[in-house]
Amino acid sequence: MTYPDQAPASAALLERARAVIPSGVNSPVRAFRSVGGTPRFMRSASGPWLTDVDGRRYVDLVGSWGPMILGHAHPQVLEAVREAAADGFSFGTPSEREVALAEEIVTRVAPVESVRLVNSGTEASMSAIRLARGFTGRSVVVKFAGCYHGHVDSLLAAAGSGLATFALPDSAGVPASAAAETIVLPYNDVPALEVAFAERGEQIAAVITEACPGNMGVVPPLPGFTDALRRVTAEHGALLISDEVMTGFRCSASGWFGLEGPPAGGAPDLFTFGKVMGGGFPAAAFGGRADVMALLAPEGPVYQAGTLSGNPVASAAGLATLRLCTPEVYARLDEVAHTIADAVAAELDRAGVAHRIQWAGSMFSVFHRAGQVRDYADAQDQDTAAFGRFFHGMLRRGVHLPPSAFETWFVSAALDDEAISKILAALPGAVADSL
Ligand SMILES: *Cc1c(COP(=O)(O)O)cnc(C)c1O
Repeated sequence: MTYPDQAPASAALLERARAVIPSGVNSPVRAFRSVGGTPRFMRSASGPWLTDVDGRRYVDLVGSWGPMILGHAHPQVLEAVREAAADGFSFGTPSEREVALAEEIVTRVAPVESVRLVNSGTEASMSAIRLARGFTGRSVVVKFAGCYHGHVDSLLAAAGSGLATFALPDSAGVPASAAAETIVLPYNDVPALEVAFAERGEQIAAVITEACPGNMGVVPPLPGFTDALRRVTAEHGALLISDEVMTGFRCSASGWFGLEGPPAGGAPDLFTFGKVMGGGFPAAAFGGRADVMALLAPEGPVYQAGTLSGNPVASAAGLATLRLCTPEVYARLDEVAHTIADAVAAELDRAGVAHRIQWAGSMFSVFHRAGQVRDYADAQDQDTAAFGRFFHGMLRRGVHLPPSAFETWFVSAALDDEAISKILAALPGAVADSL
């Protein structure tokens, strides 16, 4: 059975939304611009399934862009949320649940000695950068093209994610002065890094990198690249910030750090987290070396704050999610991801379509191109139109992929035999539609 491309109830809601919300969405990639068609408005979600307002069911391979690692409305997470909510929604004082969540993070990621909780990954990067600038007394930040760290002014130069989707080189509204404090380098390019530091090393506060990039599609660091980041930053007295907002607690119990291990020369100085650690609620964090974190207000001179930071309901959801992410869950995620990716590859092979699948733990993305993708230029050199047709072929057959060729596919531990069968059954038709 296939669904029609028209989705009347979603189309009606989109029209209503457009009257009061720019483009009808609260985050750009949701608008389906790069794949065309009507974004589906969801009514509810349970386990691996999304149900839209037209009453259609989809297997979910977006997982709210990462957080829903256990599937939707997991009964034990729901119970934790109910319990926390019954105790009050927000106190504006410290409370125990946020301490427990911080302890869980510190326990899982060894180099993180202390963390501050915030509300989004964007806030986490913004705060980590301010802290690095405060610690070093320098202002320049190095980032890599195709890496996304949230919509922080100075980090919107050559960012991935929605910006990759829209092929915007930059965002309007970012002052030249903010962009001037950012050096954008190609990912996986050690000589470019060395040149930048040779020229401006004394001004550079930090290098921020996705621990393993996932916002230009999955583009793992080549062997030795993370080591080089550590070596060069240390040589020049700059900090290394590892953005694990997407990979944290997803690639492994301790994120990409747990898979790759500490770089030669020592762990990154600061980490950022989000997505999985909020269990679907707005919670994120930044943390790392205790001597650096000690510079935060009120003890230190670097100001950082948040009315809802450490929110007890969000903390309860995050903590329940992390505690349910056992080694068995990570093993299951890896198994399910490989089953799906193998089937995609087999179907594309059969149809003679050039493709490349790249991995970070159970995160993977399917590039419509031949050959390894090492950086943003490689990632942009793919057949995005073919992806768009493939996306709609899957959607028609009840599988919701990320609506962009530059995104990661996120599996959940809730994907059961029925959901996986539905994905496998959709593939031949969707690949045929993509040709
Ligand atoms: C999603 C993401 C962010 C931004 O997080 P928000 O919660 O959307 O602000 C930052 N860094 C990375 C690597 C991300 O994937």
